[in-house]
Amino acid sequence: MPATLALRNPVSTDVVREIELAGAAEVDAAVARASAAAPAWRAVAPADRARLMRRFADTIAAHADELALLETQNMGMPIGNSTWCANAAADVIHYFAGAIDKHTGSTIPVAGGVDVTFHEPLGVVGLITPWNFPVLMASWKIGPALAAGNTAVLKPAEITPLTAMRLGELALEAGLPEGVLNVVVGTGAEAGWRLVEHPDVRKVAFTGSTAVGKRIMAGCAEQVKRVTLELGGKSANIVFADADIDAAAASAPGAVFDNSGQDCCARSRVLVQRSVFDRFLERFIEASKGFTIGDPMSTDTAMGPLVTAQHLERVRAFTDGLATVYTGPTPSGPGYWHPIMIATPSDADAAICRDEVFGPVAVVIPFDDEADAIRICNDSVYGLSGSVWTGDGSRALRVVRAMDAGTISVNSNSSVRYSTPFGGFKQSGLGREHSMAVLDHYTELKNVFIATGA
Ligand code: NAD
Repeated sequence: MPATLALRNPVSTDVVREIELAGAAEVDAAVARASAAAPAWRAVAPADRARLMRRFADTIAAHADELALLETQNMGMPIGNSTWCANAAADVIHYFAGAIDKHTGSTIPVAGGVDVTFHEPLGVVGLITPWNFPVLMASWKIGPALAAGNTAVLKPAEITPLTAMRLGELALEAGLPEGVLNVVVGTGAEAGWRLVEHPDVRKVAFTGSTAVGKRIMAGCAEQVKRVTLELGGKSANIVFADADIDAAAASAPGAVFDNSGQDCCARSRVLVQRSVFDRFLERFIEASKGFTIGDPMSTDTAMGPLVTAQHLERVRAFTDGLATVYTGPTPSGPGYWHPIMIATPSDADAAICRDEVFGPVAVVIPFDDEADAIRICNDSVYGLSGSVWTGDGSRALRVVRAMDAGTISVNSNSSVRYSTPFGGFKQSGLGREHSMAVLDHYTELKNVFIATGA
């Protein structure tokens, strides 16, 4: 008897769907299907592969409302955001369809012949995704994996698998050959780990927690399996006194409370220059009061509940007894609700200042000068994202260059786009997603010398 899992709507807590969980045998079968499909898929002419992927993208876009509804029911994301994510997933696939014939090799001047390089597909790749942006994260991996000529087995997070399962069906509807994209839903320990262990899986692309990422990297080492990791963060939002304080404060709630703080790029450490600390804090609190928590099915809602009762408990372990300068409201009735919280802890080593909470909680920390801001920002095992707010262009450049983080924005909290590289420094990850850069992580670089006799 396969194990089953009841998926609950995080607002009503009612069961949305009961799913069967795949084990190692189902993963093996999916890998076998992907292996069988691999030779034909890599042989599809670039323009034809692009055409197929564009059809897949159009099919996703045509089902965006359905995908958005599934996402919101499964994980509580506000419907406006889940609709954006579903359409963005289609755009991602379009982008990588367009990238197929632009990932070119090179010719290198050598004596006695010609030297050329090729980007060869890896074969079957294992894609493991988290629960916080299910359809979007799936597209981030499917797009480059298939564009590069690989076939894929996608294992979404078992608690939010519904949109990924639908993507698997839509791929077939769009005409992608059987076996090119396989979706297997199971636990990380069983189904996910089998992708790490399976000798025919040539690469694991993982997005999730740093703790699991470390285990996956160690597991991949056994076979020198290619691995890329997009992991956790504790990103800094640095506000200098010479910034447009109103703009920085108005933008700060979305930067940390969006998706209920369940965002790897959440700017959960807000560093503010001491001379404007009180002014900024007052406006940040004011703006946070307008970040409405409520029914995710309403387009007026900015923030929904947390994903599961277990995750709510995990977040509460950080926030129970936390002294806050602002605690927002929560709706009455059932649901995995956690209020927005803003705190100004004096102990920089407190867990709330160092650990990834993955909930709607911000700490606001004062700094004295540029050097102090950079010191506090970089005093973290993480280095995923971050922002700098300043009216001084030279300072902006000095600070972003000094930040140990991979994905940064200036006078904005928006730093992730499919056409620009995305990823983390230090324990926030390994490798990059998005842009043409990601295709190098889904291919092997082959070098060939051809003697010409001259
Ligand atoms: P998680 O690490 O618990 O799980 C992620 C995925 O890995 C799931 O599919 C899970 O089933 C699977 N998994 C768990 N244990 C496994 C194992 N032993 N072997 C193989 N697979 C295993 O993370 P989560 O709770 O789903 O997601 C939240 C985390 O993801 C946060 O830390 C967040 O910062 C991170 N995240 C990072 C990015 C990024 O791009 N850097 C994006 C989104 C989320």
